[in-house]
Amino acid sequence: MRIAVVGGGPAGLFFAALMKRHEPAHEVRVLERDPEDATYGWGVVLSDVALNFVKDVAPDLHVALTAGQVVFDRMRIVHRGEEVILARNTFYRMARLDLLRILQRHCRAAGVTLEFGRRVADLGALAGCDLVVAADGANSTVRSLLSEHFAPTLDLRPNWLAWYGTPRAFDALSLVFRQNADGLLIAHAYTYSPTLSTFLVETDPDTFARAGLGALSEAESLRYCERAFADDLGGAPLLSNRSQWFRYAIVRNRSWHHGNVVLLGDALRTGHPSIGSGTRLAMQDSIALFRAFERHGADVPAALAGFERARRPGSDELQAAAVRSTEWYETVRAKLHLHPVAFAYDYMRRTGRVSHADLRRRDPALVAAYEALPPAAGG
Ligand SMILES: Cc1cc2nc3c(=O)[nH]c(=O)nc-3n(C[C@H](O)[C@H](O)[C@H](O)COP(=O)(O)OP(=O)(O)OC[C@H]3O[C@@H](n4cnc5c(N)ncnc54)[C@H](O)[C@@H]3O)c2cc1C
Repeated sequence: MRIAVVGGGPAGLFFAALMKRHEPAHEVRVLERDPEDATYGWGVVLSDVALNFVKDVAPDLHVALTAGQVVFDRMRIVHRGEEVILARNTFYRMARLDLLRILQRHCRAAGVTLEFGRRVADLGALAGCDLVVAADGANSTVRSLLSEHFAPTLDLRPNWLAWYGTPRAFDALSLVFRQNADGLLIAHAYTYSPTLSTFLVETDPDTFARAGLGALSEAESLRYCERAFADDLGGAPLLSNRSQWFRYAIVRNRSWHHGNVVLLGDALRTGHPSIGSGTRLAMQDSIALFRAFERHGADVPAALAGFERARRPGSDELQAAAVRSTEWYETVRAKLHLHPVAFAYDYMRRTGRVSHADLRRRDPALVAAYEALPPAAGG
């Protein structure tokens, strides 16, 4: 088969490596618009559950992704200046660039051709392929070119985000809620290398307007956030890498494939940074598409239909959880009166997928502290 993968993010690279390893006779090319080693953003977190999927299909890649990694086994929530620890939330953390480099190495070792600086702008560039995989991210060009067939919807959420880095170390995946005269700012912070942490700032439209953040330059916004989180940064600076304010779109598609073209990863469907599952969803897509070709061989229509049949239910379920998580952050100002323990308990149950009994098994200390609160503090 001649396979063209548009986009060298986690979804495209992982699928390319799996297909080529399985059948070396396939011609597999990845067309990536950016130069090698260019990436946006800082680190990503991946839950241990997400990486177990990788272990089943590519044990050597699992070893490469987890070797030497320090794992977070807990989270901390800071609300009203008080810290609440949430036990047994296990995450691996890594630089996005390291994740891409490991995947690129596995592609090259398998014989995949990686073409950097290759922006796909029209479908002519993909003529003659048996299979085209559109793994070109949330603003997918291929999806736009075939939009009447895929029928995408982009649900632009109201909150604003800016993705910074910082040399400040965090010993747990940290969620910090800080109120100031303008309103509420939330930081999602985690250390992902010996020297750097991700520091994603989120704020609602009212706070954004009151603080005038839309009119500030990138450097002024950064300084505003440094002031808002001065206690948490302990004098360390925030660092910028194209760290402009953006709003997140939840992407859905009515059709997942058309002819020999299939959508994968963020091009197919996004989660939300607040649930930290975009990379996981993308890599699970790659596994599901690969499994469909394992089952159906070179029968592209059967494989694409099989992929959608097998993958849609799990994908829809996780996306629904991501939307509930998004909504929790969008409405969290109504919960700021809660005692920090009740607030943390509410956070843990925000997606509707964790029951009180689940939480008691997972984190008995948190549930005991919650049950000991006087009723008024529980909200
Ligand atoms: C602020 C923020 C924080 C996040 N934090 C996390 C986290 O902690 N954990 C997590 O799992 N996920 C996180 N994510 C989500 C994660 O980054 C994505 O969900 C994931 O990278 C999706 O993988 P992908 O391969 O589908 O798309 P992408 O990673 O977006 O890759 C798409 C690739 O396609 C290329 N491309 C685009 N257009 C073209 C074109 N026309 N021609 C050729 N190439 C093209 C792009 O350059 C890019 O390399 C976060 C996202 C954001 C925005």
